[in-house]
Amino acid sequence: MKCEICPHNCDIPENGYGFCGARKNQGGVIVCDNYGKITSLALDPIEKKPLYHFFPGSKILSVGSYGCNMKCGFCQNFEISQRKPRFDYISPEKLVEIALNESENCGVAFTYNEPTISFEYAVDCAKLLKQANLKVVLVSNGQINASPLEQLAPLVDAWNIDIKAWSADFYRRHGGDFETAKRTVEIASKTAHVEVTTLIIPGENDNDDEIVALATWLADISPETPYHLSRYFPRYKYSAPPTPTDSLFRLAEVARRYLKYVYVGNV
Ligand code: SF4
Repeated sequence: MKCEICPHNCDIPENGYGFCGARKNQGGVIVCDNYGKITSLALDPIEKKPLYHFFPGSKILSVGSYGCNMKCGFCQNFEISQRKPRFDYISPEKLVEIALNESENCGVAFTYNEPTISFEYAVDCAKLLKQANLKVVLVSNGQINASPLEQLAPLVDAWNIDIKAWSADFYRRHGGDFETAKRTVEIASKTAHVEVTTLIIPGENDNDDEIVALATWLADISPETPYHLSRYFPRYKYSAPPTPTDSLFRLAEVARRYLKYVYVGNV
């Protein structure tokens, strides 16, 4: 059985799991095995997603499960993306109820691990959240095929999508697909508010030419797309020291030649 959610298009044997560890072949049907299995739940400032131009100053109920369809050695959230920690089951109905009971909360952000691998849960929750007049936010690596994206996109109000580097090789080394990430930003921008993030890692994606190419492409979508340069810290399999703040500020200046709103985070 083939899973067609992301460009891995995994062929999954009976009772086996896909590359992401979250989807399974159960009796000849591909199921979302992490459906509603919530490992993290918190009311965060929306700027923490990061979203700076979408309901600024508000809070958003943020939920995550486990699993990921990339295998970044520098993952800043590897405890849930690459492992299967303890979880609590929260149905879509219960999630809406929790979101409605939080004061100053504008909606729900699906974040912490990759939410698109929980495609069915994201869709089921998003439909109910919209009925309850709550906003739907996805924080994603953009690794989703066009067909599921076209089903999901109309239900999403805002995205933060990673463009992890301007390099197909970088994506290949970390288990992703560069063209898919770009296409997700392009499609999502047609129907929702989109902000883009790059985690800057010394020696991996911190040269000016990459940021010039990325910012030029993003400006073609809209020069008003907010762009975040985020600081790497040693995590998981990477032990190199944190990104020097000078590099982040230099790259932000490069991006500002093309884009109106460029931010540096985690400094
Ligand atoms: S979502 Fe998971 S199982 Fe499906 S194709 Fe992608 S990695 Fe494979």
